[in-house]
Amino acid sequence: MSDCVFCKIIDGSIPSAKIYEDEHVYAFMDIMPVTKGHTLIIPKNHKENVYELSEEEASNLFKVVPKIANALQESFGSVGMNLLNNNGTPAGQTVFHFHLHFIPRYDQTDGFH
Ligand code: 5GP
Ligand code: ZN
Repeated sequence: MSDCVFCKIIDGSIPSAKIYEDEHVYAFMDIMPVTKGHTLIIPKNHKENVYELSEEEASNLFKVVPKIANALQESFGSVGMNLLNNNGTPAGQTVFHFHLHFIPRYDQTDGFH
């Protein structure tokens, strides 16, 4: 979709900090991280939300979730993680290309959690 910011990230017309890429999915750092290492994973096909996602697209996304979660934990030293996904404006979705948030969590004493 020509006016979709995440489609532009996939085609490279908007720069991003890539974490992972394969034939079906792309993962990159969130531009406004909630915590250190906040990452998004998206399908390369433009699908607005979970209601539009095929089983195959969902599978392609979720099968790399453990790999990315472990890589973030190793890279940033996080000790927990929230995985979350907003669908629709009432649920807080602001970019209408499906995405799953990885939000690494840290010990409270780190000061940035
Ligand atoms: P939502 O609120 O739709 O669940 O999350 C959208 C996320 O996309 C937000 O966390 C926001 O910071 C992130 N985001 C929006 N525009 C850009 C962008 O141009 N680049 C990157 N890397 N992240 C973006
Ligand atoms: Zn898109």
